[in-house]
Amino acid sequence: MNLFNTTVTDAAIAKVNEVLRSTFLNEGEVVREFEASLRSAVGAPHVATVNSCTAALHLCLEVLGVGPGDEVIVPPQTFIATGLVVLHAGGTPVFADIDPDTGNISAASIRDKITDRTKAVIAVHWGGAPVDLDAVQAVCRDAGVPLIEDAAHAFGARWKGQPIGALSRFTCFSFQAIKGMTTGDGGAIACLDDDDATHVYTRRWFGIDKRKVTANDIGERSALIEQLGYKYHMNNVAAALGVGNLPSYPERLARRREIDKRYRQVLGQSPDVRLLQPLEGAESSCWLFGLRLERREDFGRAMKGRGVPVSVIDRRIDRHPVFGGLTAGLTGAEVFDAEHIAIPLHDGLSDDDVEQVTAAVLAGW
Ligand SMILES: *Cc1c(COP(=O)(O)O)cnc(C)c1O
Repeated sequence: MNLFNTTVTDAAIAKVNEVLRSTFLNEGEVVREFEASLRSAVGAPHVATVNSCTAALHLCLEVLGVGPGDEVIVPPQTFIATGLVVLHAGGTPVFADIDPDTGNISAASIRDKITDRTKAVIAVHWGGAPVDLDAVQAVCRDAGVPLIEDAAHAFGARWKGQPIGALSRFTCFSFQAIKGMTTGDGGAIACLDDDDATHVYTRRWFGIDKRKVTANDIGERSALIEQLGYKYHMNNVAAALGVGNLPSYPERLARRREIDKRYRQVLGQSPDVRLLQPLEGAESSCWLFGLRLERREDFGRAMKGRGVPVSVIDRRIDRHPVFGGLTAGLTGAEVFDAEHIAIPLHDGLSDDDVEQVTAAVLAGW
């Protein structure tokens, strides 16, 4: 049994083959085809693919003009990329507390951390379960601070019936190998505003918006670079994996939700574990299934002995010295960091695997 699976469908293999044989490997038609499919999947007017979610997050901060002296509020419970991109942009990450029942950033804590130097807030949908977007958006709106959703875990999730990707100024997705939908490595930025989209398209490729720059009759492009851009675009090979993998995604998501439901039925009855609880109105993409429990290391060893892989996935990231030391007073993060552990949740699990996992947990540690 594996903790994660990587699905590459036959359709994806066929599409990749087609691209390889075409020898047009650079960003081209297949990227545009993938972006069109993503736009309808997430219901956003603009979706720009990039080569990772890390690049996506960094690009959003660049578009917002984050630089030295600016603060960006982030949760400590996330993958290090969420904090590192703030440093890449020259800004200062400010860690807000999380709600230990979800692992997600707390709107009240964001409000406490906002200063006149706050330039953006990044909210992560931990494990794929949407953050309280109404509350977080209200705090951001009151303070006039833009919100970036780090939806690396949350492709396919919904908040109050609307897809994650259609709700905030910027939403960043990851298509890295172990995320729910993969292009090998890859990411995307969904945005609502036309000007933001133009900036994203421009800065993702050296400062040139390829959609707009055409060659003249002798093949010369005359665009001059005005904004600092990056080499962050997705190529046709990665996009072919995406185009091939995307159609079966809803089915795979449905299977993950079924397993999530089964875990809730069975493990919800154990007095020894607490399940993370999605909020009212949050439909998770079910990328992780998190438990909170005592004596986590003993639990990990017992599960390993029973053939069940488990993982803390990410410890709170402010423990890394690169961020300047642990932020004091984040009581939700302290509890979560001590108690959280994830069990396998993916569509490669058979019903027998699922029963093996629940039996292993119920057998104690
Ligand atoms: C995986 C992950 C990222 C980075 O995604 P990449 O596509 O690997 O760059 C960012 N944020 C979170 C929460 C992640 O889990």
